Amino acid sequence: MAIPDSLQAVKTRIAAACVAAGRPADAVHLLVVSKTFPGSAVREAFAAGARAFGENYVQEGLAKVGELIDLRGRIEWHLIGPLQSNKTKPVAEQFDWVHSVDRLKVAQRLSEQRPANLPPLNICLQVNISAEASKSGLLPGEVAALARDVAALPRLKLRGLMAIPEPGPGAPAQHQAMARLFAALQAGGLALDTLSLGMSADLEDAVAAGSTMVRVGSAIFGARG
Ligand SMILES: *Cc1c(COP(=O)(O)O)cnc(C)c1O
Repeated sequence: MAIPDSLQAVKTRIAAACVAAGRPADAVHLLVVSKTFPGSAVREAFAAGARAFGENYVQEGLAKVGELIDLRGRIEWHLIGPLQSNKTKPVAEQFDWVHSVDRLKVAQRLSEQRPANLPPLNICLQVNISAEASKSGLLPGEVAALARDVAALPRLKLRGLMAIPEPGPGAPAQHQAMARLFAALQAGGLALDTLSLGMSADLEDAVAAGSTMVRVGSAIFGARG
C-alpha cells in the first residue's frame, strides 16, 4: 500500500477504536514511527498530513531532523528509543519530545541542555510494565518518585508515561496497568496528558485502555528490513 493509503487506514483504525471505547475521536494522537525508513518516506507521510514522527536511534534521528530542516516548526520530532546520558545534548537541542526517560540523571542533563529560546522539552517516563529483564524503563513502583523530580525540572515539561507491553495474551493486562499508573499520578496532582501506548499490532487494545498517543511504524511504512 502507498504511504498515504496506509496512513489513512491507520487513522481509520484509531477512529474505530475510539468509537468502540466510547472516547472522542480526537482523544488519541498518532505518532508516526519512521525509524529505519528514509527521510523521503517521512516527507511523503508529512505531505499526506502526518505531523509527529518518532525515531529510536539518536544518530539516525538527528540525521533525519537535519535532512528535513525545511519542515522545522511544522513537524514534531519524538525520541522513543533509549537515551544515554552522553548523548543528551543534541537531543535537547533538536527534538521536541523524549518518551524514554527512566533516570533522573538523563532528565537533569536534558533540562540543563535545553536551549533557552526553545519551549520546554516534552517528556514521558518509560515504564517497564512487563518487567522483562531485557527492557529499559522504570518498574511501576519507581515511577511516582521520578515523576515528581522530573516535573520540578525547569526546562522540561512532564507529559506522561510510555510503555512497550510484551506482545501476547498478557498484553491487555499490561495496558490496563499502565492506565491505572497514569491515573494514579494524575490523582496525585501531576498535570499529565499523555499515555504513550500502542503500536501497529496492539493499538486497539491500547486505545481501549486509555492511550492518548499510539506509536505506529510498520502499519504505515511496511515491514522494517
Ligand atoms: C518500533 C517502535 C514502535 C513502532 O512499532 P510498529 O510495530 O512498527 O508499529 C513504537 N514504539 C517504539 C518504542 C518502537 O521502538
